[in-house]
Amino acid sequence: MKIIQNDNFNFREKINLLNFDRHQMRNFFCSIGEKSFCADQIMIWIYHHFCCDFDKMTNLKKNLRKKLKKISTIFAPKFIQEKVSIDGTIKWMVDLNNQNIETVYIPEKNRGTLCISSQSGCILNCQFCATGHQGFNRNLLVSEIVGQIWRAYKKINILKKNIFHPITNIVIMGMGEPLLNFNNVITALRIMSDNLGFNISKRKIVLSTSGIIPAIDKLSKIMDVKLAISLHASNNTIRNKIMPINKKYNIESLLSAILRFLKKSKINKDGITIEYVMLKNINDTLYHAQQLIKLLRYIPSKINLIPWNNFLNSNFTASDSNQIKKFANFLINKGFVTTIRKPRGQDIQAACGQLNGNLSYSINKKKMFLK
Ligand code: SAH
Ligand code: SF4
Repeated sequence: MKIIQNDNFNFREKINLLNFDRHQMRNFFCSIGEKSFCADQIMIWIYHHFCCDFDKMTNLKKNLRKKLKKISTIFAPKFIQEKVSIDGTIKWMVDLNNQNIETVYIPEKNRGTLCISSQSGCILNCQFCATGHQGFNRNLLVSEIVGQIWRAYKKINILKKNIFHPITNIVIMGMGEPLLNFNNVITALRIMSDNLGFNISKRKIVLSTSGIIPAIDKLSKIMDVKLAISLHASNNTIRNKIMPINKKYNIESLLSAILRFLKKSKINKDGITIEYVMLKNINDTLYHAQQLIKLLRYIPSKINLIPWNNFLNSNFTASDSNQIKKFANFLINKGFVTTIRKPRGQDIQAACGQLNGNLSYSINKKKMFLK
């Protein structure tokens, strides 16, 4: 498109308004000579009415709509494939031009959870994770993070609200390490929780991290969010092997960072979640459980045991369900709140750690699934 000039901006390409939180949206409107309340109006159109067509935003002046159409757009990446599991879980492939990512909707009795991705691929190379095996492609833009929620809301909360439980919770547990895409994830979190945005309580948003310590410290200074930590090992020898990031930030330094975070956090008063993937003969014996309770004795936390989900070319075996129960009971008897995560969407490769962004359906089938 041609370059549009005004006093403050040179627009070479259209600005995607999905990249802006409330503050940035107001700045943008001021910079094009408009009143900042128009920014609030447009956020309501985008996030409350799921409208991306400027012509339909009838409470904005005609001239403003014309101007916005010229210089900006509201674009959420498209869902190009949809797979539905027998347990009701839905996985969408999101079109990012050869660097596709995945988003998963998990319906439960009393809530609907959306699991979103923060990066295409992941650099951290955890041995048990399909995303890690894929390697790193790139960080997602704010519009690509928020866009997953926008599209899923449109599908579930608007179009199919009588069939599906509406999305009530967001977990940043899809592809990628959210704290390595820090600024974009923070802006996306602001849009999620803002009442002009998706208006989701921060208590219903969980950020899961493998434990990037400087970023946890930074997070504690600027935003309170529910935190889940991928611990997955009861000592450094095992964690070094299965999560290479441990060589940089070991268990002891990670636990100290968690304590610092907890001191500042209001919404993690009940403790953070410790995620622990159960890998047969690697970290799943009662010896490991004993080590784990020693590590966590001063950390207010709930332990979430995750049955390991298989993926192509992986070298691990999932722990037997009896072993997982034994492990859980041991922790419970020692006074630790412990749950076992119910795997969801395994038949469509939508469960934790199975996401890899690979298309596996033919075009025709794609059309069948998408409206
Ligand atoms: N990068 C972040 C968030 C994405 S992974 C993190 O690592 O926390 C979300 C969760 O799924 C993490 O706890 C991760 O360790 C776990 N996970 C990864 N691969 C898995 C697999 N194959 N089976 C079960 N859980 C897995
Ligand atoms: Fe990355 Fe998380 Fe997978 Fe590790 S578990 S490779 S941090 S996405």
